[in-house]
Amino acid sequence: MAEPPPSSSSSRRRLKIGIIGFGPFGQFLSKTILKHGHTITATSRTDHSHLASDLGISFHRDMNGFVEADNDVILISTSIVSLSDVVSSMPFHSLKRAATLFVDVLSVKEYPKEFLLQVLPPESDLLCTHPMFGPESGRDGWNGLNFMYEKVRGCKMLEMSCEEHDKLAARSQFLTHAVGRTLSEMKIESTSIDTKNFQSLVKLKESTTKDSFDLFCGLFVHNKYAREELKNLEVAFQNVKRKLLDGMSKKLDLSVSNH
Ligand code: NAP
Repeated sequence: MAEPPPSSSSSRRRLKIGIIGFGPFGQFLSKTILKHGHTITATSRTDHSHLASDLGISFHRDMNGFVEADNDVILISTSIVSLSDVVSSMPFHSLKRAATLFVDVLSVKEYPKEFLLQVLPPESDLLCTHPMFGPESGRDGWNGLNFMYEKVRGCKMLEMSCEEHDKLAARSQFLTHAVGRTLSEMKIESTSIDTKNFQSLVKLKESTTKDSFDLFCGLFVHNKYAREELKNLEVAFQNVKRKLLDGMSKKLDLSVSNH
C-alpha cells in the first residue's frame, strides 16, 4: 500500500477490517490501514484493549464478539505456530457475511494456504500474502517495498488498459445485454418443448433485464466501441436474413424449374 495523500483516501471505499493477532506486526499493519481511512476491529490472545483504544480500534477479548462484528475483510496476523489453534476457535457460523475475504500475512505460505483452504467457509475468498517488510523496515512507509501475494480463492484480478477493457466489453458485455434486451422486446418465454439452447436464451433475457436500463444505457453511451458493435449486430442480422432469403429463393427457383 502506498502512502496516500490525505484527500484521496476519502474517495475510496472504506473497509471494515478485522485483525486476528494484534501483536507487533498486527499493530504495525493497523497503523497504515487506519491512515487509509478504514476501520479496524481486533482480537488477540493477550488483552491489547488499551493500546487498541488509543489507536481508535475496537478490541474484542473474545473471538465470538470479533467474528460477529461486521468485517469486510479478516486479516490473520497471528504467529505461524498458533495459526491452527486460533483459526479453529473461530465460530464461522457467526460471520455477518458469507463471502468475507480472509487475508493471511504469515511468513510461510504453503502451510497457511493448505490449512485455510481446508477450514475456511467455502464461500469466503482467500488471499495469501507475505509483506516482505516489518515494523522496522517499513517504519518510513511501504512505498517500493515488496509485498508477495497469491489470490487463492475469489475473483481473478486482471490488469489491462481501460481502452482494452472497453473494446473487449463492447464485444462481450454490451453485446450480451443488447441481445438479451432484444429477446425481451420479442417477449420470449419458456415453452413445453424448450431445447437447451432456447433455455439459454430465456435465461439470457431474464438475467439482462434484471439489470437496470440505466446500466445498459451507460454501457452504450460511455463506451465508444459499443456503437460499432451495435452496427455489427445489425449488419450481422441483415446478413443472416439475406442468406435465408437467398436460400429460400434458390429452393423456390429449383422447384419451379423441376415442374
Ligand atoms: P509473532 O510472534 O510471529 O506473532 C505474534 C502474534 O501471535 C500475536 O498477536 C500473539 O498474540 C499471537 N500468538 C502467539 N502465540 C499464540 C497462541 N498460542 N495463541 C494465540 N495467539 C498467539 O510476531 P509478529 O511479528 O506479530 O508476526 C505476526 C505474523 O505476521 C506472523 O505470522 C509473522 O510470520 C507475520 N509477519 C511478520 C513480519 C514482521 O516483520 N514482524 C513480517 C511479515 C509477516 P498476543 O499478542 O495476543 O499474545
